[in-house]
Amino acid sequence: MSSEIIIEILKEVQKAYEANASEIEKLDQAIGDGDHVINMRRGMKAILEIEKELGPLKPGDALNKIGMTLLASIGGAAGPLFASMFMGMAKVLGPDDMDDSKTVAKMISSGVESVKQRGKADIGDKTMLDVLIPVSNLFSELVETDNLPKNEMLGQLMAEAERGMLSTKDIAATKGRASYLGDRAKGHIDPGAKSCQLIIFTICNYLINRGEDK
Ligand code: ADP
Ligand code: MG
Repeated sequence: MSSEIIIEILKEVQKAYEANASEIEKLDQAIGDGDHVINMRRGMKAILEIEKELGPLKPGDALNKIGMTLLASIGGAAGPLFASMFMGMAKVLGPDDMDDSKTVAKMISSGVESVKQRGKADIGDKTMLDVLIPVSNLFSELVETDNLPKNEMLGQLMAEAERGMLSTKDIAATKGRASYLGDRAKGHIDPGAKSCQLIIFTICNYLINRGEDK
């Protein structure tokens, strides 16, 4: 898997994000400060602006550069958190290619670990981690399952992302801006969790449609 694929996937994510932007904006207006979509757009735009520099890099270097770009371009909580995800992924990959699913699973798990450390948050805090942690755990488990068809694995990951996103709805937040609302945050899906579910759906659909064993 090359750095070009990261860019290709990002363009798909950007399209999917625009199609869902108003829904996600409403979520952050309900329990945050309404800037989540602006932050995400700004981050994606900044990465695509350095598309040509990323293309020739090894995937690990590209992920690291993406992380640094996000750190510099997105403000708020989401910038450093998404930056940590990419830098954490890069840490595991080093100069290697991400050519087998076990490496990709380790990479995602390291990325999620970095988000947990950066956000001092865990599952049940009503954040993006309620999607990222269970999906990453399931992915690590599924790559150890022999003969599991690729699309079956991707389908299970999408279902887990959906489940994680919905799990944020009826709980109060204990991290981030929404935590100031106490019980008033209940009844609303967390915007960061929705963004992550959408990103995971888009990546899985991309890989399903691509039809390669990756
Ligand atoms: P801000 O909260 O600074 O306005 P955004 O609106 O872009 O930033 O992002 C908000 C999202 O960030 C939340 O919906 C939540 O998923 C995530 N988030 C906030 N704080 C944390 C944290 N400590 N750990 C993990 N994720 C967090
Ligand atoms: Mg916000």
